[in-house]
Amino acid sequence: QLAGKAAIVTGSTSGIGLGIAEAFARAGMNVMLNGFGDKREIEIIRARLAKEYKIDAAFSAADMSVPDEIAAMADDAKRHFGGVDVLVNNAGIQHVEAVENFPVAKWDAILAINLSSAFHGIRAVVPGMKARGWGRIINVASAHAIVASPFKSAYVTAKHGMLGLTKTVALETAEHGVTVNAICPGYVLTPLVRNQIPETARARGISEDEVIRDVLLHAQPTKQFVTTEQIGALAVFLCSEGAASITGAALPIEGGWTAQ
Ligand code: NAD
Repeated sequence: QLAGKAAIVTGSTSGIGLGIAEAFARAGMNVMLNGFGDKREIEIIRARLAKEYKIDAAFSAADMSVPDEIAAMADDAKRHFGGVDVLVNNAGIQHVEAVENFPVAKWDAILAINLSSAFHGIRAVVPGMKARGWGRIINVASAHAIVASPFKSAYVTAKHGMLGLTKTVALETAEHGVTVNAICPGYVLTPLVRNQIPETARARGISEDEVIRDVLLHAQPTKQFVTTEQIGALAVFLCSEGAASITGAALPIEGGWTAQ
């Protein structure tokens, strides 16, 4: 029953967002992609999803650190698809550094992109969802929304904040057929994680191999990275009627990390 529904997936030119957008397209949903990257490569992704899954795929270049651009992206999607049924707040960045050296501009950017962008997107789409009596909001948080790690003060703060936003909006929309949930992935081998391996090696004074073995996979009892396909499958389930009673939840998908 998801075929024909329209979804915005922020930060979907790469990694987890792209995995969710592809899973949505496979389920027959129309998707608005968003994110940074090479224009030609993004157009190749957009055209491939449209052709392979016979869906309508659009793209917005909105910068998730700019509230007006987020509102404009939502307006574009409403005009293009006739409404927004599903919003996935996924765009995110990372910076790994001790709190006393943490650049103020990085703190501000991480709070804006990883947390405030979800507020701006939600406030733009909730009226339409309430009016139609159906909607799904999925916030891509993190295991770092539940537990902390050193040297990630801004990221852990933003992700913990995302759970507060998730619960609050879930309560406000609960009687309108709208669910609001957070997905809390463990480590997925995307560019975001690959790029932090050298930073983490420097911050902890260990080698890059040791970061993978003793920091990243050490956190996950399965000793496996989570995959973007697994996260896409969870997002599709959350959109289904089978998940209609799941709201305000933080769903871990982290190989047992936060069970420890
Ligand atoms: P990624 O770097 O592969 O993708 C990030 C996406 O966000 C890209 O499409 C990028 O263009 C986009 N983006 C970045 N800044 C943006 C901005 N200002 N405006 C619009 N788009 C922007 O990273 P990923 O690992 O796929 O991360 C996606 C989300 O998943 C993030 O919120 C991240 O915190 C979360 N997450 C990742 C992991 C992991 O292990 N990779 C684990 C838990 C949570």
